[in-house]
Amino acid sequence: MAPELSIVIPVYNEEDVLPLLAARLRPVADGLGTTYEVLTVDDGSDDLSPAVLQRMGRDWPQLRIVRLRANAGHQAAISAGLASARGDYVVTLDADLQDPPEVIPEMLAQARVQRADVVYGVRSDRSSDSAFKRLSAKAFYRLIRILSGTHAQVDAGDYRLMSRATVDAINSLPEHHRVLRFVVPTLGFPSASVTYRRDERAAGKSKYPLSKMIRLSLDSVTGFSTAPLRAATWLGLLGGLGAFALLAYALIASALGQTLPGWTSTVVAVAGVGAVQLLCVGILGEYVGRMYSHLQARPTYFVAYDSLTGPVTPADEP
Ligand code: UDP
Ligand code: MG
Repeated sequence: MAPELSIVIPVYNEEDVLPLLAARLRPVADGLGTTYEVLTVDDGSDDLSPAVLQRMGRDWPQLRIVRLRANAGHQAAISAGLASARGDYVVTLDADLQDPPEVIPEMLAQARVQRADVVYGVRSDRSSDSAFKRLSAKAFYRLIRILSGTHAQVDAGDYRLMSRATVDAINSLPEHHRVLRFVVPTLGFPSASVTYRRDERAAGKSKYPLSKMIRLSLDSVTGFSTAPLRAATWLGLLGGLGAFALLAYALIASALGQTLPGWTSTVVAVAGVGAVQLLCVGILGEYVGRMYSHLQARPTYFVAYDSLTGPVTPADEP
């Protein structure tokens, strides 16, 4: 029997945190008054996390363990969890207790009462994060907003509840390297939010070194990459036009006899080739952008209302 709620937790070398997590999460989950599964995704840990999880599962029947063969990264681990979660609702939660599990009942209530398909956990204050992390996060969300034109919730991380319809929609996207927090808002499901205080990591160290943060930023930006590609197109067009202007100037100057011998032919060759290349690269960029967005296969529109059938909820859509 499928449980009503799945709690998906990516775990990468969290041996110190896991017992603390169980102690906080279990009372909350048991108190929900509904069936649930806690789906831990072991993201190729090389510490004692697998053994600790096994031990936890011995007297916690609702605990499921999915183990990835190698470290695939936070977002990939969550995706793996979404793919095997069985619940009508799915909550994604970090293992390190930065996202307090006590918020889950409120998320579930919001989803039921407001009939929201997505309930974002929004951080009410980030004082537990370092100044660098706060500043970089702020710049990052702003950049994504400009690039994507989506209304990704500022300060919403990966702590959120999603309905079965939402999870199915995510699972059906073939896109690689997706950054879920920016993809979910583009799916257009009715949403609500719950604010919470983001705590310090309960134990262990962050598994997000600068290199992984940069990777995440690049994935986020290229995830909406028609914007940078567009910029390349415009740059190519402008450069190409500039080169044509230079070409014209060189020809006129040579006709008026105002140039050194050899100058005109050099400029014509360089500017002519440059202009053609830049224009072609710009055009290529447009096609690459189209192919990319085709590959991502995100929905291009959402019908909200049809006079024949009334309001359309995302769950009704094919
Ligand atoms: N994580 C993971 N794979 C990774 C890195 C992190 O599954 O390659 C998990 C980690 O165990 C934690 C969550 O992702 O549950 C968030 O990681 P962390 O707390 O280290 O990130 P931070 O909060 O410092 O941004
Ligand atoms: Mg953390």
